[in-house]
Amino acid sequence: MCGIVGYIGEREAADVLINGLTRLEYRGYDSAGVAIVNGSLEVRKKKGKVKTLSNDLAGNVLRGKLGIGHTRWATHGPPNDINAHPHTASDGSFALVHNGIIENYTSLKERLTNQGYTFSTQTDTEVLVRLIEDVRNSTGLSLGKAIRQALSQVQGTYGIAVVSNDDPDMLIAARKGSPLILGIGDGEYFLGSDAAPIIEYTRKVVYLNDGELIIVRRSGFTVYTVDNIALDKAIHELEWDLEQIEKGGYDHFMLKEIMEQPASIQNAMRGRLFKKAPYVVLGGLFDVIDKLKDADRIIICACGTSWHAALVGEYMIEALARIPVEVEYASEFRYRNPILRKNAAVLVISQSGETADTLAAVKEAQSQGIPVYGICNTVGSTIARETDAGVYLHAGPEIGVASTKAFTAQVTVLAQLALMLSNRRNVLTDKELKNYTKHLLAIPGQIQQVLDGAESILKIAEIYRYANNFLYLGRGPNFPVALEGALKLKEISYVHAEGYPAAEMKHGPIALIDRFMPVVFIAMNDSSYDKVVSNIEEVVARDGNVIAVTDAPVGHLDTLCQHVIRIPTTTELFTPLLSVIPMQLISYYIAVLRGCHVDQPRNLAKSVTVE
Ligand code: GLU
Repeated sequence: MCGIVGYIGEREAADVLINGLTRLEYRGYDSAGVAIVNGSLEVRKKKGKVKTLSNDLAGNVLRGKLGIGHTRWATHGPPNDINAHPHTASDGSFALVHNGIIENYTSLKERLTNQGYTFSTQTDTEVLVRLIEDVRNSTGLSLGKAIRQALSQVQGTYGIAVVSNDDPDMLIAARKGSPLILGIGDGEYFLGSDAAPIIEYTRKVVYLNDGELIIVRRSGFTVYTVDNIALDKAIHELEWDLEQIEKGGYDHFMLKEIMEQPASIQNAMRGRLFKKAPYVVLGGLFDVIDKLKDADRIIICACGTSWHAALVGEYMIEALARIPVEVEYASEFRYRNPILRKNAAVLVISQSGETADTLAAVKEAQSQGIPVYGICNTVGSTIARETDAGVYLHAGPEIGVASTKAFTAQVTVLAQLALMLSNRRNVLTDKELKNYTKHLLAIPGQIQQVLDGAESILKIAEIYRYANNFLYLGRGPNFPVALEGALKLKEISYVHAEGYPAAEMKHGPIALIDRFMPVVFIAMNDSSYDKVVSNIEEVVARDGNVIAVTDAPVGHLDTLCQHVIRIPTTTELFTPLLSVIPMQLISYYIAVLRGCHVDQPRNLAKSVTVE
């Protein structure tokens, strides 16, 4: 949540900052602001999108070659001009932007208020600013050291960037729990919450770790540990291209990312899945696969859409590798004192690799001596670095707030993991493995076929655009797809939707069904088909409007349902990779038709880096 940018060099900082904030806006869009040093320290901040701020700056330019910027996802205090970041010292000498939550801000605020400090905002961030001032006033320490000392009194999470009027050649940043990357140019440096604002200037980056503080000058930078010891940091090369983070002619990132799925899934399988034995080699897990195959239980922790992918993974790993799997909300995992036996393994899934709750689950498992393996999209992200081993999705950057291509890439990686484990455990015959592999390799082409039929899904969306409630039902591995379909609709269309296992409908949701209720059924022609068709009959008998997604031949469903969306046939366990595509398109089109802001839905942000 929230995007931080910083710049020090010879360019006009405002241009770099606004450009960077625009690229980071998917992380938060409640308000945006910049602070620029040029003889004096000037702050400009505005409620609303980055565009509002950039319009303001266009009319009244801020010059200067050092600055910081922020696009906010409010946690403390409503999104307004005053609560927008940057926040400044009482004497205006420095400005700070913050991503995260200062959890002990109430007690700190009380103490600082008693000492005579005053506050003009409702944010937790301003408390950190006053705390730094207080340390500085009472100790006379340099700003860098005062920040270090103030941070040692803070509980919670932070990624911060600070500039000061007293030193026009210094940008300071520090992190604990919120990501920060430094891009290294020629005599110039770029700070970002992720690579998006950096990539057009340089590919060389340094990832900050928790507890580290960096002081950047035009002549170079130094990273310090918590104990103030200077570190030698490795310089990494970014993998993503600029075109990958641009819309490329599509109206929305979400549509671009939906349409990219044949390619992104291909990339998630490239060099990993083969037509012949050993069929699957996930390089990142190669050294640990024997340990993983002997696990007596795999616990998968994730949040949101990644949690739905994990549920699909549960079906696949249990069916193909016969290892018991449990799926946990990462946000709940550590709070219920989980019992992790010695032979358990934990797998975490996070698109951004920065999800705060998922990271906390990693730490919980590791603290109990359990190995943790990660499935992440963002290379070099915190979870990718903190886990014991892992697999990247290689899906390319996902910018649309509603996750689409990351979901299918996650399921693809989980399918490969299930097959790799299956092979190692000798669960399937060679023929069966070959057959599963063949089906998985065919998925990108089959997704393309579903995408080619997008027009007919748009027509269905036009009919139901005004509906206030939707029900999504599926069974087996398509139950998580029903959850994902409902989540997509809620996220971007603000339409209430519920996902259920189809048979559960009779235990409650059936009471909701009337002629105003569209019900989306995933009715694949598999082991549960006849049961699902009976569930459809039950809905039709109560005047519900059924939209069926199926691979069954034309026949009974077409007379029974108002709408039938046909998708190609694959093996039962891999059907979620195809059945989720119509779910994504239905929600996308309904959101567009309802005039919703598809890529930046209200109240949401792309990567949830606060708990
Ligand atoms: N807690 C801070 C605020 O509400 C920062 C939130 C964020 O990460 O954007 O202003």
